[in-house]
Amino acid sequence: CGIVGYLGERDAVPVLMQGLKQLEYRGYDSSGIGIVHRKKVKVIKEKGKLAMLEKQLTDNLTAKIGIAHTRWATHGGVTQENAHPHTGPKEEVIVVHNGIIDNYAGLKEKLIAEGNVFKSETDSEVVAHLVEKYLDLGPEQAVSKAISMINGTYGLLFLFRDHPDLIIAARNGSPLVIGIGKDEMFLASDAMAFAGYTQHAVFVDDGEMVILNPKGYRIINSQNLEIDRDVEQLEVA
Ligand code: GLU
Repeated sequence: CGIVGYLGERDAVPVLMQGLKQLEYRGYDSSGIGIVHRKKVKVIKEKGKLAMLEKQLTDNLTAKIGIAHTRWATHGGVTQENAHPHTGPKEEVIVVHNGIIDNYAGLKEKLIAEGNVFKSETDSEVVAHLVEKYLDLGPEQAVSKAISMINGTYGLLFLFRDHPDLIIAARNGSPLVIGIGKDEMFLASDAMAFAGYTQHAVFVDDGEMVILNPKGYRIINSQNLEIDRDVEQLEVA
């Protein structure tokens, strides 16, 4: 339902929590945060209100990069396991997803036949497994390959255990906007999520992928062409 990503010099977890709070108005049944720190992946998620997630946040969750989600369940019940983020079997990839992957059942069946074990009942977890399956190609090619295999609607954010300064995003039929700060970057389903930090935004279109690091970003369309889009100055609320 709502997604936020952060990459920069700040402590990521409070920035992400602040972002999720700004997205609460859209409604949700669970929430979660995923971070990468010292080549370790950590996922904290909980059903219920953000306050329930906040209770799980311990002091040792330092990271400069993270992604977060408020879920409105479509596939799989409202449980802690089904809350986002989801990871691949080797926990090399973390994903948050807004929308619905229409062809997830067939993909999941194949992955299970290949030996993958799933931790949730969601359509979304399939995407994490796919990206991890192709990760030898490099993160960008792996996401591109996974995206080419899925049908449906998505706003997706990916973190990679072995790339602590990279977020990749993809959009189809689900809003996605980049927030550009000074040596820090944001991604969200709604610019409200980073309104307290920057007014500079670039809106992502359907079929596009974003490659984000602390210094900048690239937007690539489905023909693999790089897009140069104007930065918009958002109104200060
Ligand atoms: N289809 C996904 C799920 O049920 C994402 C739902 C959402 O957009 O929050 O977990």
